[in-house]
Amino acid sequence: MKKLLPTSTVGSLPKPTWLAPPEKLWSPWKLEGNQLLEGKQDALRVSLQEQQLAGLDIISDGEQTRQHFVTTFIEYLSGVDFKNRKTVKIRNRYEASVPVVVDKIARKKAVFVEDAKFLRKQTNQLIKWALPGPMTMVDTLYDDHYKSQEKLAWEFAKVLNEEARELQDAGVDIIQFDEPAFNVFFDDVNDWGMQVLERAIEGLHCQTAIHICYGYGIKANNDWKKTLGSEWRQYEEIFPKIQKSNIDIVSLECHNSHVPFNLLELIRGKKVMVGAIDVATNTIETPEEVAATLRKALEFVDIKNLYPCTNCGMAPLPRNIANAKLSALSAGAEIIRKELAL
Ligand SMILES: [Zn+2]
Repeated sequence: MKKLLPTSTVGSLPKPTWLAPPEKLWSPWKLEGNQLLEGKQDALRVSLQEQQLAGLDIISDGEQTRQHFVTTFIEYLSGVDFKNRKTVKIRNRYEASVPVVVDKIARKKAVFVEDAKFLRKQTNQLIKWALPGPMTMVDTLYDDHYKSQEKLAWEFAKVLNEEARELQDAGVDIIQFDEPAFNVFFDDVNDWGMQVLERAIEGLHCQTAIHICYGYGIKANNDWKKTLGSEWRQYEEIFPKIQKSNIDIVSLECHNSHVPFNLLELIRGKKVMVGAIDVATNTIETPEEVAATLRKALEFVDIKNLYPCTNCGMAPLPRNIANAKLSALSAGAEIIRKELAL
């Protein structure tokens, strides 16, 4: 019988300090050239082993070979100017200096495919690979060419689909699109965002996932969360569209968030990666706390569809904290498995 409650992380994990300075986003590489290539592969091995030691069932690359979940992918595209940057407000929340789309975009070469082949060789466990979602990519750039967010998003969907097909052929079992922007631009999601995402998963026969969260535990996100009131109902705006889509899995922020669990009813039938680990605090969850979150989710998610997970990526956390949190996730899932076996 298939194991119940397969555990995984959303994606990013802390990198070894010899590869990049810890506890920050866009952390620069400490190596270059062939040493960097080797260093990234070694980091993939370490991250795999740490996930295995923590008892995770689905392995991710820990995003060890990328600097950032959006910009690294964009670096592999032509038509984008990284030198003459512009400042934009990301997700209406914080300003960032971003690259500019100056011409028709195209994928010059595969982005993560070699990394995926490398990881595939190291393990027989299921592998999940995250890619940025088209709408979130649009939001992390200045567009001086298409002059239409929607048009640019369709172009991104095309190149993401090329990458996703090659990742699938490299042996990736689950391809996940990170779309935190879905939690902010509801009207766009309903007008074109979901349709564009369907284009990104076109023709895939592996499992597909969408991750929608309230962001990394950085100050701009934590401040924004304080303005959202006592009930966070953002998911309610977009779940009906997701429910009708071809996406197999929905990855969500649940633990310590103010998302009412009954919203999960709106995506009944989908597999749900339930965030049972808070990435915005260094406090390590107890297995009992994880189990409590999973129990609440079980009221609205069928047991066979429940995938215990983290709220978001853990790249900015201290490494020992991240590892302890992953172990708590496994232990919490095990509590529920034992309960169900009785
Ligand atoms: Zn996230």
